[in-house]
Amino acid sequence: MNVTFFNTKQYDQQFFTQVNEEHGHELQFLEVPLNAHTAVLAKGADAVCVFVNDRVDAEVLHQLAHAGVRLLALRCAGYNNVDLSAAALLGLPVVRVPAYSPYAVAEHALALILTLNRKTHRAYNRVREGNFALNGLMGFDLHGRTVGLIGLGTIGLVTARILKGFGCRVLGYDVKDSAEAQKIGVEFTTLDSLYAQADIISLHCPLTPQTHHLINEAAIAKMKAGVMLINTSRGAIIDTKAVIQGLKSEKIKYLGLDVYEEEGDLFFEDCSNKVIQDDVFMRLLSFNNVLITGHQAFFTSDALHNIAQITLQNISDFEQGRVLTNAVPLPAATASR
Ligand code: NAD
Repeated sequence: MNVTFFNTKQYDQQFFTQVNEEHGHELQFLEVPLNAHTAVLAKGADAVCVFVNDRVDAEVLHQLAHAGVRLLALRCAGYNNVDLSAAALLGLPVVRVPAYSPYAVAEHALALILTLNRKTHRAYNRVREGNFALNGLMGFDLHGRTVGLIGLGTIGLVTARILKGFGCRVLGYDVKDSAEAQKIGVEFTTLDSLYAQADIISLHCPLTPQTHHLINEAAIAKMKAGVMLINTSRGAIIDTKAVIQGLKSEKIKYLGLDVYEEEGDLFFEDCSNKVIQDDVFMRLLSFNNVLITGHQAFFTSDALHNIAQITLQNISDFEQGRVLTNAVPLPAATASR
């Protein structure tokens, strides 16, 4: 298969080229993101491979189909950036990497929790300047604290296991039951009761119309004073402006973000020589109890290897007419084209 990759970095090219030795596809790596202006570059490709911030809307999908593309391969788990109804109407299958390393993301969520709590990011700078004062660095024992996980799928479950190892009480909310979660000792509860009891809340649900701005002013009002909020899932699950109000009123005492609702204009790029125009993002950065990483939770060598392996296997399965085990379910295409 001829596969055109959009939005690639040197590390994508390295892992995909290496793993492709077992698959033998023709890979073309582009650095530009996929959008209505760049879709034309897919001409001649059988499959297009995209990442989290490529906007695969109806217009882009029409252009891809028109260019002869027969498969959309996401090299990520989430698919909120794809217009699935348009893909269904075009008969364009969409495949993804449902789980490449839940450990990578869960461990990063823990890194955010531990850093915010013990303030190691601030201690690192202080010690380098010869300042060994402890004022402002006081944390709390994680052991015995209550953590609420919203979303108990692959990543939520790994996070629950790690937190249990720390001796935390783990509450969980999900739209589905999970026997696995109960086996680990997660206590299922309602969202309201999770908000009322959790010292730390970590988001592990997908971005859907139901979870868009799930964490809004009303939800924050129900949380414990001094709560820690962690989001390694998708930015728009949080209403950023409401969270800023929560930080200003000190209802939210710690915020750890790996994702941000307007990250598409910032993340994965070096903006250090530019003036960042996003005032909401800059306000977030001004709080010393906010820790932001640029969508790097997935970024381990193990995860990148698995992403390349599963994506290329998805493409090989399509080429050889096998069942697409990692196909994203498309809505029934009832409308006329
Ligand atoms: P998953 O599909 O295994 O689990 C998601 C869980 O969320 C499921 O159990 C589902 O039932 C639940 N859910 C769905 N709607 C819900 C709702 N309204 N309220 C509560 N729970 C709901 O997905 P996963 O592999 O665990 O990944 C979770 C999310 O993490 C992905 O959707 C993706 O957005 C994000 N992610 C981020 C990174 C990163 O680098 N930051 C990497 C991978 C995944």
